[in-house]
Amino acid sequence: MPLDIHLDDVVRLRKPHPCGGYEWVVVRLGADIGLRCTTCGRRVLLPRRELEKRLKAFVKHATPYPDPHV
Ligand SMILES: [Zn+2]
Repeated sequence: MPLDIHLDDVVRLRKPHPCGGYEWVVVRLGADIGLRCTTCGRRVLLPRRELEKRLKAFVKHATPYPDPHV
């Protein structure tokens, strides 16, 4: 199943960044996915398949389902 990922999504990876941060913001989409560490601000590029392997969970989806009460 292809990874359903969007710009500004926040994801949690299995292994922490050397700075200790686990959470990353998606800053670029393509064959390689650009991620920015939310703890230290550093950017990395990961091939999509690599990200699929390392991804543990979504912390926040950038485009949530519309709130029916609004
Ligand atoms: Zn970091």
